[in-house]
Amino acid sequence: MSSLDHIRRYHPELTALRQDLHAHPELGMEEHRTAEIVASQLESFGIEVHRGIGKTGVVGVIRGRPGNRAVGLRADMDALPMEELTGLDYASRTPGKMHACGHDGHTTMLLGAARYLAETRDFDGTVNLIFQPGEEGCGGALAMLEDGLLERFPCDALYGMHNATGLDVGKYAIGAGPFMAGGAFFDITVTGQGSHGARPEASIDPVLTACHIATALQSIVSRNISPRETAVISVTKVGGGDAYNVIPQTATLSGTARFFSKAVAEQIETGLKRVAEGVAAGFGAKAELDFRLIFAPTINDPACTTTIADAAAGLVGEDLVNRAREPVMGSEDFSFMLEKVAGAYIHVGNGPGASAHNPHYNFNDEAIPYGSALYAEVAKKALGQ
Ligand SMILES: [Zn+2]
Ligand SMILES: [Zn+2]
Repeated sequence: MSSLDHIRRYHPELTALRQDLHAHPELGMEEHRTAEIVASQLESFGIEVHRGIGKTGVVGVIRGRPGNRAVGLRADMDALPMEELTGLDYASRTPGKMHACGHDGHTTMLLGAARYLAETRDFDGTVNLIFQPGEEGCGGALAMLEDGLLERFPCDALYGMHNATGLDVGKYAIGAGPFMAGGAFFDITVTGQGSHGARPEASIDPVLTACHIATALQSIVSRNISPRETAVISVTKVGGGDAYNVIPQTATLSGTARFFSKAVAEQIETGLKRVAEGVAAGFGAKAELDFRLIFAPTINDPACTTTIADAAAGLVGEDLVNRAREPVMGSEDFSFMLEKVAGAYIHVGNGPGASAHNPHYNFNDEAIPYGSALYAEVAKKALGQ
């Protein structure tokens, strides 16, 4: 029996589990209930379990036939701080929290793979199942790494996946090399001199200065970064002032940057600082930049990309696997794990519907066996049968 057919036998149980996780979303680094469900499920499959790695992270270890190699399979567990509008009977029971990125599905898919791999153990070496907390900008991958994830559970390759709205269920898409953008958040604080709104000559106006900075920042991508590179700088928040007749003392600009290489990230940081400080100085004001790298670029190792694409093709046929997916500007913190160990990250079809982070989004339960079977098959392929 194929792994897909084998896993389909647990599909009803996996669907019930996914919908239970959906009804009980937990934010990043607070996934206590989810982590306990993961740990107890793994134990029920006879898998060795390690709790509390990176606060709420869980690692399961499955040993197959004797062998020195190990592979890591990673899924994320956290929900988002937003209100669900799906109207589903298993919609979030917690106001202001929602599984709007399908991490309930990812967790379920890896549990499905865990059960299958524990029942069959048809591989040489070790499979490390990595259930990661806090992917949504909460530092969960780094928390697990800082807690010694890869020293305690050494891996020769790492594989992860994300559901993709708009890609049919049963299809997969991946690209070698830079696959998802790196992301940073920034805040610029402009300090001038407050005064009465009717006496601008007594002020150094931080609001006017901030407006000029926001405009000038657009020159970084258009004039400083090579046109052959990809970069985004978006100012998404502007703050300053509380009254109609007061020129405030300070104003703030905040936003995000996206890039596919560390070199471009450094160019962006340098540019933000130079433009903000320079424009502010021109107005007699001061500007201070706080630039925080939140996500590294997700770089797919070419050999690992082939391994997981071959595993996918083995399940559904070559025609349903896109091996040349264009890079996307979204970000993913599995990137920090891929900086340590080569691996690959693949998109799994979630069918039509609302896209991730939309209040009407829902993970498609029909995709569960395709995710579970791919986790299992890539582990077997990477380790050898
Ligand atoms: Zn997300
Ligand atoms: Zn996500």
